[in-house]
Amino acid sequence: MTLIVTEKPSVARQIASALGKPTSRKTFLKVGDYVITYAFGHLLQFGYPEAYGEHYKKWRLEDLPIVPREWKLIPISKSAQKQLEEIRKLWQEADEVISATDAGREGELIFRLIKEHIGLEKPVRRLWLQSLTPEEIREELGRMRDLSELERLYQSALARAKADWLVGINASRAFTLVTPREVFSIGRVQTPTLALLVDREKEIQQFVPRIYFKVRVGFSVNEHLFWAESLREYEEQDAKALAAELVGQTLQVTHQELSEKKAMPPLLPDLGDLQKFASRAFKWSAQKTMKVLQSLYEKALITYPRTDSRFLPTDMKKQVRSIAKALNQVVQGNWVLVESLNNAARIFNDAKVTDHFAIIPTGKVQELKGDEQRMYEYIVARFLAAFYPPAVEIHQTTDFAYGDHKFRHYAVHVREPSWYALLGGPQSEELLPDLQAVQVNDARAEKRQTQPPPRYTDGTLIAAMETGGRVAEDEEIAQILKEKGIGTPATRAEIIERLVEMGYVQRHGTQLIPTTKGIMLIDALREVKLESLTQPELTGEWERRLRLIESGEETPQAFMWAIEEYVRQIIETLKKEESAHLLRKKQNMPIARCPFCDGFILEGQKSFYCSNWKEGCSFRVWKNMNGGVLTADDVRRLVAEGRTRMKRFKSKAGRTYKAFVVLDMEEKKVAVEYPQRAASSSAADTELAHGDGEVAKPSVDEVKKRATKKHTNTKDASSTDTKGTKKGTRNARGRKRK
Ligand SMILES: [Zn+2]
Repeated sequence: MTLIVTEKPSVARQIASALGKPTSRKTFLKVGDYVITYAFGHLLQFGYPEAYGEHYKKWRLEDLPIVPREWKLIPISKSAQKQLEEIRKLWQEADEVISATDAGREGELIFRLIKEHIGLEKPVRRLWLQSLTPEEIREELGRMRDLSELERLYQSALARAKADWLVGINASRAFTLVTPREVFSIGRVQTPTLALLVDREKEIQQFVPRIYFKVRVGFSVNEHLFWAESLREYEEQDAKALAAELVGQTLQVTHQELSEKKAMPPLLPDLGDLQKFASRAFKWSAQKTMKVLQSLYEKALITYPRTDSRFLPTDMKKQVRSIAKALNQVVQGNWVLVESLNNAARIFNDAKVTDHFAIIPTGKVQELKGDEQRMYEYIVARFLAAFYPPAVEIHQTTDFAYGDHKFRHYAVHVREPSWYALLGGPQSEELLPDLQAVQVNDARAEKRQTQPPPRYTDGTLIAAMETGGRVAEDEEIAQILKEKGIGTPATRAEIIERLVEMGYVQRHGTQLIPTTKGIMLIDALREVKLESLTQPELTGEWERRLRLIESGEETPQAFMWAIEEYVRQIIETLKKEESAHLLRKKQNMPIARCPFCDGFILEGQKSFYCSNWKEGCSFRVWKNMNGGVLTADDVRRLVAEGRTRMKRFKSKAGRTYKAFVVLDMEEKKVAVEYPQRAASSSAADTELAHGDGEVAKPSVDEVKKRATKKHTNTKDASSTDTKGTKKGTRNARGRKRK
């Protein structure tokens, strides 16, 4: 019997049906002499410190750094353990084992750790699949690789996992131990990613908008209305005066210029590219895009999605033609261009393909619905578009003068839409004819404001992670910067989710906003001279060295020594008394002054509250209030302007409504104000109810528990019983009103 082990049950099913008519058992499938079983992604991980000694259960600074000499593997869950038992039984009976986990670094690790754990010697070969179509599966079964060919990939995967364990466990424990109140998590990839968000947030907060005016003039040519805009910026008064003066006047044309621009279609997509698109177009998180792509891959509709290559290998030309033939029936477009391999030099490039190539459809067609349908259609459109000729645009600049005042009309006319028809492109504008002068029909003074840089979304954060935070407009340059990006395509979505889970980042619509806790961590690491943990360069450099292990240019030992040395430095720095002192001071950095008293507004796990709450100050804003999310930024605005922007809430009955959160300076409390009743004072009496019905008042227990909760990773401790909290509220109010 030959045992095949896949990464996921769905892949096992695809392989089984490619081999014949399978019979299905509880934990495996059977076809002829083949038995196909599966993991559920990772089944094993390196044990937590307590696996290396009972005494590590207690977090103590003097035990750090913890560097295991013999690494211990443990099942990640009960169900993983059960599945491992099943795999072991099948392994025992097998004459040969085939590894069919996903074709990448993590896939390799998943199988190797299972093999290590089971520890039975059997001949093993590797099935390396780029897609899950029956043809590909049957073809690849005929040319399986020897496991030794993937030894270096395995070594780099192992080094990656150990390095992340060493940095994560030691830095998180040390930082948490020297800071008195909260549990922190630090990681090789997550912390530099958080730093990107924190740096952007600071830019936004320090941004001072500048207001200026531009003058726009409208004129008719051949019954078309065109607009030109002043090159200069004006003060409000001057702009208005000029606009009034301009109506009816003649502008002289001083310069007119045409140029032709060709826009090549985008390269084929990789994972990051699709995550960026879906974030922008569908408002999806990176995680969601990953899930949809994984599902399309498991249905054998697209090729392997965890890729960062945007090219195809040259030996795929024949296959590309047959994919075109298959899709031709169902998708409209110029498939002849694909069949004739137009743009081939740009699309096929062996030097830029390693284990994986770009994401393309496999040619298999299947009825889809909803999200999968949308994503699949886009991937097909991108595939088709890549073979289209460039779109052709005509850019026209026309300059006008009125005395010393200069105006410009700029238009882009799309002469040849080409692939814009598939993926969208700029709106085609009317060009001006040759002319000497125009008469102004309309003139306006328009207020403009300089804008702060935008907050990151999942899509723009993925883009920043790919390039280590450096900006690259050019696709080619972005490719080069990718060499030193943060994380790998396969893990970026998880990293973003992890930051949210740890309370470092809040989602606000599509925006990702760092919390005070996240900002404090980054600030603190920089101040104690551990800024390397926040720098994309370091993790990018490690990523590069992991690839060198893959290519055999660096030994895993040399890499591990460097990591161990680095971890020792981190611990030594954090153990220093001045570091500990500095960090204690930094803890709970206030986000604003309290508007009601001389206290400071602090950020807790679930709310923003005043440092003088014990003295009875009733400033408190719940982060999740009546189904709405309030961020530190909202609170800063509330304090500065007396009210937040209009927020969206949900009533108990589930209806959404909009309201402001406002300061009631008379009653010295935070209240809700409805737009239609803005003038009514009774609106301000509305009780601020927390999402689960708790009344807004700091609970003594919350703070006490927070102070003692260190060493445990339990969820927030603020859910004291409702009665007790309510009582506390009344007492506090009673005191204040006397
Ligand atoms: Zn206060």
